[in-house]
Amino acid sequence: MLELVDFGKSYDGVNAIQNVSFNVNEDEYLTLLGPSGSGKTVLLRLIAGLDRPDTGRIILNGQDITTMPTHLRGIGFVQQKYALFPHMSVRQNISFGLINHHSSPIRDEKKVNYLCDEMLDIVGLSGLADRGVGQISGGQKQRVSLARTLVTKPKLCLLDEPLGALDANLRERMTVELRDIRTTLGVSFIHVTGNEDEALGMGDRMIVLDKGCVIQIEEPNKLFAMPASVKVARHVNSYNILSGSTENNSFVFADYKLPMAAYAKSAAFYVVGIDKVTIEKVGSVKRKAKDITSFEAKFVDAEFMGSRVVYQFELADGQIFEVERHLSRETPVDYKAGEVRCLSWKAADVLAFASDGGLINENAKIRGTV
Ligand code: ADP
Ligand code: MG
Repeated sequence: MLELVDFGKSYDGVNAIQNVSFNVNEDEYLTLLGPSGSGKTVLLRLIAGLDRPDTGRIILNGQDITTMPTHLRGIGFVQQKYALFPHMSVRQNISFGLINHHSSPIRDEKKVNYLCDEMLDIVGLSGLADRGVGQISGGQKQRVSLARTLVTKPKLCLLDEPLGALDANLRERMTVELRDIRTTLGVSFIHVTGNEDEALGMGDRMIVLDKGCVIQIEEPNKLFAMPASVKVARHVNSYNILSGSTENNSFVFADYKLPMAAYAKSAAFYVVGIDKVTIEKVGSVKRKAKDITSFEAKFVDAEFMGSRVVYQFELADGQIFEVERHLSRETPVDYKAGEVRCLSWKAADVLAFASDGGLINENAKIRGTV
């Protein structure tokens, strides 16, 4: 439904967005992952028409809308700092866009109320219509802001870090609800976030943005299992990335020599998912087993993050190696700082990347871009 072709935008000679091309499909939840300053808000503002790109075109349902004013685009935008009208009720905030619509304002109060009630129901705010927006919680304000945008029935809705201001519990609940709301309305979403779990968990497809450039577009499960480049693996933030070189079917970094598959003889990065590693007692792993790689490392710390724990180990060169465990499957282990453990993983779970950052796959083909 939406097509961006070669979008670019710079401020004071610095590129904020560069060569960005992608499509949004009908009825799709697209997430866009990028760290702070990577150009997420700039990109949404360009799509909404609040800013003009320096280069490129934007096509909505076959029509070039590159120079079309914002209010004619039919694109909803829930901005990061959602500014509700502070002296109005929830209902007045949501109705505002209907009553004051640029081309087809709705004057019939019954109709406005009906559409407003319908939307309050969808976002789970029935019963709060007459509250002032100063008398509701942050999470409820977020829903009003979403309802206010969706009530005008946009074809596409842009969400700028919609869960960023919510606390962890609420965020988890809203991830499910946002997906349900989108499915109910059949509107396409572009949801931008700096949080990899959100991007991976919520998108039908996800885009990774790095310094204003798109570095991969893929279904989350495929992107997670096989990042196209070492940069993408870094953004996903669930990998141990060791940098070194290969010698005679071994990957050498610091004092370690790890077996490396023959197809990856040019590997410069050895990458293991933090969820692929097992922690065992020293001496209990059969070191000779051909399909198992292991080394010893010192326990440093454990970080509890909701339903999971990430154990941090220190390698001989001081680098931190992480191991993730889900608390739904295992009770946490209370390792002592400095305790040495044997970390092991299957050789088949290793990803290798070349010195230019591209993934080396089993057929020795380099996929994707750097
Ligand atoms: P984020 O991914 O955190 O949303 P932004 O899209 O806001 O990042 O910003 C991307 C880059 O563009 C940043 O370096 C920012 O400083 C710059 N930028 C954004 N808007 C402007 C502007 N109006 N004037 C100058 N620089 C801007
Ligand atoms: Mg932003």
